[in-house]
Amino acid sequence: MKEEAIYIPRRKRLVEELAQKGITDKMTLDAISRVPRQCFVDITFANMAYEDKALPIGHGQTISQPFTVAKQTENLRLKGGEKVLEIGTGSGYQAAVLAECGVELFSIERQVPLYAATKKKLTDLGYTIRCVLGDGFEGLPNHAPFDRIIVTAGAAELPEKLLRQLKIGGLMILPFGSGKNLEMYRIERVSDVDFKSEKLGPCAFVPMLKGINH
Ligand code: SAH
Repeated sequence: MKEEAIYIPRRKRLVEELAQKGITDKMTLDAISRVPRQCFVDITFANMAYEDKALPIGHGQTISQPFTVAKQTENLRLKGGEKVLEIGTGSGYQAAVLAECGVELFSIERQVPLYAATKKKLTDLGYTIRCVLGDGFEGLPNHAPFDRIIVTAGAAELPEKLLRQLKIGGLMILPFGSGKNLEMYRIERVSDVDFKSEKLGPCAFVPMLKGINH
């Protein structure tokens, strides 16, 4: 894909800004330096694509702030090759960043138009990502267990079925809380029945909702 030259220095500056804000994982920063974020925002916001801001993507949803994408990705502690499930495909930007990290990615979206448009966009950009229309609370039992699960919407209740789709030793990054009081958690499945969680700091996401929205 050939992209407009103006975006290249902007993307480089964004990566520097993320590093200054505390992102240290090289795989994450390198992945972000390869994804054309201007292709994942509404065309009217293309000029703002490399500002560290969440932006509207239609259907009442947003593309996550680059710092949030970087923080979630870094906290997945990827090495490459992991089987990963993302909840909330949205614009597809986080999915593209994960694909650039060399993982095998499944991504679920509950809104039909977003699912269809983003699946096509990711394919057109050359990404191999298994996009699925569904309810993230249910996960993908047919493809479980996963090494990593990343939830990109705020959950007001624990997604129990998803937790059970983690491998032992696997990690889930979950924005959890009520309304605007969301905290990012990393949850590790330490045994069949035991989970260990740690807080990674406050965060902002649109809510994780149940069912499919046709
Ligand atoms: N990862 C996205 C973030 C999009 S915002 C990006 O990089 O752009 C969160 C997305 O989660 C929205 O598209 C919303 O429709 C979706 N979502 C919310 N609840 C969901 C659920 N239960 N299952 C699947 N997707 C969900």
